[in-house]
Amino acid sequence: MGLMTALRALERATRPYDPEFVAAMERRWAELPQSARTPAQVIGRHAVGCEGTHGVFPRCNLKCTPCYHSRDANAVRVDGPHTREQVAAQMDLLRRLRGPRAHAQLIGGEVSLLPPDDHAAALAIMHEHGREPMSFTHGDFDYDYLVRLALGPDGRRRFGRLSFAAHFDRFMYGRRGIERPPSEKALNPYRRRFADMFARLRREHGVRSFLAHNMTVTPGNLDEVADVIRDCHAMGFGMFSFQPAAFVGDERRWKGDYREATPDAVWAQIERGAGTRLDHDVFHNGDVRCNRTAYGFYAGERWFPFLDGDDPRDVAVRDAFFRRFGKVNFTGTPPALLAARVLRVAARHPATITTALGWLTRTTRRVGIGRLLRNRLRVRPVTFVMHQFMDAEDVAPAWELMRRGERSKDPRLRETQERLAACHYAMAHPEDGTLVPACVQHAVLDPGENAALRTLLPIVEVRDRTTRPEPPTSGDNEEK
Ligand code: SF4
Repeated sequence: MGLMTALRALERATRPYDPEFVAAMERRWAELPQSARTPAQVIGRHAVGCEGTHGVFPRCNLKCTPCYHSRDANAVRVDGPHTREQVAAQMDLLRRLRGPRAHAQLIGGEVSLLPPDDHAAALAIMHEHGREPMSFTHGDFDYDYLVRLALGPDGRRRFGRLSFAAHFDRFMYGRRGIERPPSEKALNPYRRRFADMFARLRREHGVRSFLAHNMTVTPGNLDEVADVIRDCHAMGFGMFSFQPAAFVGDERRWKGDYREATPDAVWAQIERGAGTRLDHDVFHNGDVRCNRTAYGFYAGERWFPFLDGDDPRDVAVRDAFFRRFGKVNFTGTPPALLAARVLRVAARHPATITTALGWLTRTTRRVGIGRLLRNRLRVRPVTFVMHQFMDAEDVAPAWELMRRGERSKDPRLRETQERLAACHYAMAHPEDGTLVPACVQHAVLDPGENAALRTLLPIVEVRDRTTRPEPPTSGDNEEK
């Protein structure tokens, strides 16, 4: 290849803006309802939102209260070929409708019930479709499974990096070694064990990871949220995501009045755990009644936001970021390539360099030179998230009206419609070419889908190690 040809190829590869990605974001912005078009909105400015699979491996071998899966989910066989085929079809539609890059969750049951080769194949399919996959698990699997996922049969690395979201809370029954957790604290060794497996994977095989910690919050564990954060923030999780329980999924698993764990009450406990106020208005992901997010980092034991929403100079940094870098695709871009693209934007808009230096100086002052030096300039990015699913009794009628193109007159259903229209979390239906919010999937579509899967993939009864006890219907751990 001649020098000129090589330079031209380099110029093309480092172009900051991919027209297809830009077009996908413009479409997303145009779809957003007015209520979500805030200055803080990320959808349509820097991302298209999150995606998830459904109907691929609905079964799970723990029992949660509540459980968002429909009552037939556990009567469906986990089947590798079905999973691969469905993941490919769903990713294909997402790729066509939502553009070349997005974060997508491999979710819909317990992912570690998939044989490692099928799990790896599903992740590879997602990568091929420009998706940055994250596997959703209860975390009750062994290091051997993780190694067999990360390495192929030839012992070579299949992935440079794996992302997992692990769900831990005390109302999940049947975890090996702690069938009925007496408290959130009692689960901490299991949280640590999970995170440690990934540290070991990196040490022994060079596979990096991103770990999120998920927890359903009910009135029964609300006052334990802060301690979970205090006890676990340094274990290796890059995100702590809390879901106030909703009345959706298998109604046999609904226990207690979940509405008492209000979004404000849960967020207040997250703030107690983080030891500081968390401003969820610096960035919005969809409707703020669905998602609250605070991006920041720990320096030692203290958490600091990347941007201080009370400082107009930091808010101006956010706006400049959206303006200049919002349409640069960060997701899944190799660091060197991303750096080259960022440099090209900076060269075209030199004022961004001054803005960035000003932000760096202010942030360093906020953290304190002493603290930074004591921590050998090491900081750990940790994001706090709260995602509030909606109750099935609201989602079903609101969605029905939306399908007919009608706006509800009932304020509660109208709010539900606004939230669905701004949904951050989409699932694909290749059979009719539509995308639906995950709330709709769980509240409206899952029961029929799982009933059909139950016939398509019946369970062949065998006694295996995945057999778990039924959840208690009364007793010490039950929410009152
Ligand atoms: S899945 Fe439901 S709660 Fe979540 S962002 Fe979408 S509409 Fe909101």
